[in-house]
Amino acid sequence: MTSQDEKALRKQLKDDYLRAEQAASAALMPIDRDQLESLLDHVDAALEAAGGCDNTPRYTEEWAEQHGVDVDRLHEGVREFGGGCDCEVVANVDPEVVFDPVRQPPETPHG
Ligand SMILES: [Zn+2]
Repeated sequence: MTSQDEKALRKQLKDDYLRAEQAASAALMPIDRDQLESLLDHVDAALEAAGGCDNTPRYTEEWAEQHGVDVDRLHEGVREFGGGCDCEVVANVDPEVVFDPVRQPPETPHG
């Protein structure tokens, strides 16, 4: 095996790993993409009206209750993507990251 083959194989394994990781994370999200966009709109507007985040996911919970979504499962889903409180949900839980397939990782010069 040439070192080039080895490099390609390692890259393939890494891509498979990233894709599997992404699928596992997405599987924890109990809502679909439209619902997530609705959640983000709600939390964003509520935070603006409230003047900021109080370090709790209260508006995320509020949305879940209004939409009949299991609050605990939604917490688990958003936490997987770094959404521990309302401002983190808005900042970190990006529908493109949650639902789109993993993009090619950027080439690193010394990778
Ligand atoms: Zn916050």
